[in-house]
Amino acid sequence: MSSSAPVVLVVEDEPEIATQIVRRLEAEGWTAHTVGDGPAGVEAATTLRPDLVVLDVMLPGIDGLEVCRRIQAQGAAEGRPVPPVLMLTARDDETDLLVGLGVGADDYMTKPFSMRELVARLKVLLRRVERARTVTPAGEGEPPLVLGDLTIDRAARRVFRNDVEAHLTPTEFDLLVCLASSPRTVLSRERLLADVWDWADASGTRTVDSHIKALRRKLGPELIRTVHGVGYALEPA
Ligand code: CA
Repeated sequence: MSSSAPVVLVVEDEPEIATQIVRRLEAEGWTAHTVGDGPAGVEAATTLRPDLVVLDVMLPGIDGLEVCRRIQAQGAAEGRPVPPVLMLTARDDETDLLVGLGVGADDYMTKPFSMRELVARLKVLLRRVERARTVTPAGEGEPPLVLGDLTIDRAARRVFRNDVEAHLTPTEFDLLVCLASSPRTVLSRERLLADVWDWADASGTRTVDSHIKALRRKLGPELIRTVHGVGYALEPA
């Protein structure tokens, strides 16, 4: 992160909630922009290049799910980093549904939520953006990690399977590197939460599941094995 204030795009059609979020973020010294519908959210993600996106699921125009997909697709097409997305849902079962779909949001919060909790979660995501920006340029530092047909270039933060590049979000990349650091070893969801998300409590294990789903969708379903009740293991070919 440069010394300038983080820029957060808030896509939320309920003006009261949007205003509350903006006030809280500005109190942190951050810059917040709000838009009230899906298409405007996709456009603002391109024009503003925000550091983070807070995205409501139920939106006029196109829903948050599709907005999230388009933001990721645009980033991949233009070869630029995709900002982490924190998705706001109306109910816990809606969160479950999105996790099940492997939408690729970086975190989820169910309304109503505390602004303090929102800021705490966004700060975790910001640290990840910071880490991604301070990596050494390609060709320097660590050599690529090669596991079977999977190649992870940690210096350039790029991933290839059978020489085809997979476009991962910063969180997905960090999770993959964590799994790849101990291949064929089961890592518990709590351990992954602590290592990748810096979370000490286990309340976010669904977030882990969501990112595992996204990794399987992008890299192939058989690459990561589920050990029920325990966690996940990377099983390179
Ligand atoms: Ca809404």
